[in-house]
Amino acid sequence: MKEVYDIVIVGGGTNSLSIAGYLGKCGLSVCIIEGRGECGGGVENTEPMPGCKIDPHATYLYGGAAPAFEQLELHKFGFRMVHFNVMGGGVTSDGNGHLAGGRNEEALLRATRKLSEKDLNTMQQMATTFGDPANLAELLRSIYWTPPPPPNIELPVEDLPWAKVFRKQEHPLYDDSWNYMSTMELLDSLLDSEQMKVSSAMATWYNGPHPNWRGTAIPGYCCNALVGYSSGKPRGGMHSLAHALVRCAMHYGAKIYTNSYVEEIIVEDREAKGVILADNATAKSRKIYADKAILSNTHVQPTFLDLVPERELEAGFIERVKGINLKGGSLFVLSLVTREMPKYKGDAEEMFSDGIYPSCTWINLDSREAMYNMERVVYSLNTHPSRKEDMIISFINHDVYDKACQTPEGYHVFSPLYLQVPPPEYHRDGPTAVNDAKWDIVEVMLEKIREVAPNLTDDKIVAKFVNTPYDSSLRNMGFVGGNWMGISQEEEQWYEQKPLPELSRYRTPIKNLYLCNHTSYPGGLALQAVSYNLMHILIEDLKLQPGEWWYPSPHFIPSDA
Ligand SMILES: Cc1cc2nc3c(=O)[nH]c(=O)nc-3n(C[C@H](O)[C@H](O)[C@H](O)COP(=O)(O)OP(=O)(O)OC[C@H]3O[C@@H](n4cnc5c(N)ncnc54)[C@H](O)[C@@H]3O)c2cc1C
Repeated sequence: MKEVYDIVIVGGGTNSLSIAGYLGKCGLSVCIIEGRGECGGGVENTEPMPGCKIDPHATYLYGGAAPAFEQLELHKFGFRMVHFNVMGGGVTSDGNGHLAGGRNEEALLRATRKLSEKDLNTMQQMATTFGDPANLAELLRSIYWTPPPPPNIELPVEDLPWAKVFRKQEHPLYDDSWNYMSTMELLDSLLDSEQMKVSSAMATWYNGPHPNWRGTAIPGYCCNALVGYSSGKPRGGMHSLAHALVRCAMHYGAKIYTNSYVEEIIVEDREAKGVILADNATAKSRKIYADKAILSNTHVQPTFLDLVPERELEAGFIERVKGINLKGGSLFVLSLVTREMPKYKGDAEEMFSDGIYPSCTWINLDSREAMYNMERVVYSLNTHPSRKEDMIISFINHDVYDKACQTPEGYHVFSPLYLQVPPPEYHRDGPTAVNDAKWDIVEVMLEKIREVAPNLTDDKIVAKFVNTPYDSSLRNMGFVGGNWMGISQEEEQWYEQKPLPELSRYRTPIKNLYLCNHTSYPGGLALQAVSYNLMHILIEDLKLQPGEWWYPSPHFIPSDA
């Protein structure tokens, strides 16, 4: 007996699980085949010491504005958020504290005391869009939860969905010149405070287009709004999102196999028919077939270079897939278990007191120099930062907020501390160079941290765990390069060119094979955005008729437009 479903999905990450919920809700039979022991992909938690949960990859849930939360009713499947009262902050090397993105009024007061009149004015004006959740959701959905236009349509920059939303909302600061600026140029035009600029630019760099890249000021700056919209994480850690999505997918009938690695996508005459599993897979059949479509939830490169038989693809296409740039976005992840919270020097200690504690503290926010140094070392010299002058570190702690993640009394977990490094494939000293140097890198990071939090001496640090990009790609078969955004977020690979122009609407040269991984637009982050966007395409191609629960993006341009 052939094992056949309407839809077969290779991989069980968040984009796979959420599209399985969507398609199951449309009445289709769906089978998810995950190579690892558990679904969730990059939203994973581990507990290397009893009671101390760390995040080897993703740590923040930015998807608050995702339609999937409403459309799949994830709260019914146990999804709960923990909101942070202060999302971000930072410290300069002389202990000058900075707070940003607070829900807490006292925190806001402390933050604004340090701002100039211009900064205050900008913040107030920005609040017309960013302060109203409905406006903000509309803006964010125009950026992340909207498929790029069809390949034959080139939108003038003023007609890009986010520019239209700014205009529609009559944003008091907006003018069309924003569409040609970089995030850094926009920040320079709006603000005085170098600390606000650097912390916003870092949030952009770690969550979207590079802050110096012209033409991406709005999506770049809006990364900060994405972070601020729900400012939190799932209760119990990132992996709780995967649990809610698994429950949802199963509720709508999805079958899920784990420990079942897909070795090949069966393609006949350029049409995807099914998948072949590894010998040791735990699924009941070695071959599983799809009547309607196969969705690849793994990285675009292994999809075409390993899974689809070479004979079914044009040689030129294979070369272009090989040429997809992975640079940027590979993170060195340090987790610390300490006996104390940091006691910052200068006014930072007072700013971060009485329950006001930024969930992410950027060390150091002196000026943009360290950011540029880090960029030069990682992007141009293709090596890892080895001097503290070349580092800005995100110092993240969640256990103060989430009881479900609380560590044993007397201990604290700081996880993850992110630092940019090159993807293993591009490191000038070879793919294992960062792994070989990891404890040296940790020592320099600690030196940098102690500059502002001198109490975190060796005797206060109980354990250190490292996850390098190389480790990430070993843990998760789809994390080529250990890159949080899958592939480089650069001009030639952005928006309607992501990951390649002919793949930008999630369709592929193989009939019935679609991409459903963060290497497609809008890219990395557990936003359930690729799955929502792909739904628009599958509704067209499979003639689906979702119920009233479904609403498309108002900016979606149908393929036959
Ligand atoms: C260091 C780091 C930090 C990050 N921080 C954040 C953050 O704070 N917030 C955030 O939102 N995002 C963050 N991200 C990004 C986020 O983790 C990813 O964007 C997200 O996990 C992508 O989901 P996905 O479903 O597209 O793919 P994945 O999560 O990669 O899932 C793909 C799944 O497919 C499986 N698979 C692959 N190949 C096969 C095969 N051949 N057969 C069977 N199964 C297969 C894999 O095992 C995996 O489970 C971070 C990523 C990294 C690396």
